[in-house]
Amino acid sequence: MLKRFASLNELKIRIYLWVVPCIVISLISNTLLQNIDGVNKFNFTINNTLTIWFIISWFLLYKRLFVQFTEYSNLALVSFYHVTTFFDAVRNYMVVDGGSLGDFIIWMPITTLFFFLTLGTKRGLYYSIVIFLTTFITGIMYINSLSSESIDSLGQFYFANLVYIIVLYYAQHVFKTYADLEMFKKHAYYDSLTRIANRLRIDEWLEKKLKVFDEKKEGFSIIFFDIDHFKSVNDSYGHKVGDEVLVELAELIQHHLTNRELFGRWGGEEFIIITRSVGEDTVQLAEHLRKVVANYSFKGAGNLTASFGVTNSKPGDSIDSLLNRADKGLYQCKDCGRNQVSYIK
Ligand code: GH3
Ligand code: MG
Ligand code: MG
Repeated sequence: MLKRFASLNELKIRIYLWVVPCIVISLISNTLLQNIDGVNKFNFTINNTLTIWFIISWFLLYKRLFVQFTEYSNLALVSFYHVTTFFDAVRNYMVVDGGSLGDFIIWMPITTLFFFLTLGTKRGLYYSIVIFLTTFITGIMYINSLSSESIDSLGQFYFANLVYIIVLYYAQHVFKTYADLEMFKKHAYYDSLTRIANRLRIDEWLEKKLKVFDEKKEGFSIIFFDIDHFKSVNDSYGHKVGDEVLVELAELIQHHLTNRELFGRWGGEEFIIITRSVGEDTVQLAEHLRKVVANYSFKGAGNLTASFGVTNSKPGDSIDSLLNRADKGLYQCKDCGRNQVSYIK
């Protein structure tokens, strides 16, 4: 899940990797059409230069090199291309032939998408409106020289452009709301220090597990463990080292678990593992983890141990009754000298 958040920018780049080839196709088709209609040297040179740049920019984005520079260069060039092609279409085709805008309208959504993608919701909206007004003023300037077919075509273009702007503006809003929601979920479910599941998430897991146990008799067990003499780590090395130990321990345990187990921080220096295995299999897993911890040297605090309470789900269990048994196991270990596993049936 955390990966998904880090990848919002990544998602943007992936969209660029689709959008840029569309712009390249648009440029190439424009160059080919010009060749058919008769070469305009200025447009021909501009089209080819832009085509080469966009191909280079695709590789830069693909390799994640100079991403921001590439983004903004592309934005400037897409805007320039959009406005000049529109101007060219109105002045050299519509005024002369009295025809319609032609394929220009096909590429317009991509251009508008590019504005929103690069500039975000609000700035994207303002920028799209400025570009829209530029094309609108161009149309107004030539309105007296246009045929009714050309005016119809322009009207459709302006209407479609406004629709795209509104749709993309709201689409970005929906996307942002979704991203925010995911962000809230992340904060609600994950422990900010160790980045593993927090108590709220563990509670949900246990509730679900108990429900499935009740309905389908699918048993499970929990391992509740606590670092021995953790207070003295804080006292001897400071709170910061204490925090680092908690992070390291969470990583260490996670490394020794499979995707069959659920793992989270219950609070303080207490952690919980929910396993699909029951009985001796879970005791063996706890024993293995106990040894892993005891044999590990923590960066700032050296060797530490932990105590483990193990119990299985029982008919009629609630979260409290289940945790009380595991807690009882944990305190048995503490009473008997720590660095042990206690199994409460
Ligand atoms: P025992 O072997 O009986 O478990 O002894 P203990 O010292 O580990 O247990 P105790 O409950 O006396 O102390 C737990 C300590 O954990 C006290 C508290 O300051 C520390 N602690 C709890 N949460 C955190 C945390 O997020 N960061 C740090 N650095 N310390 C924490
Ligand atoms: Mg402790
Ligand atoms: Mg404790």
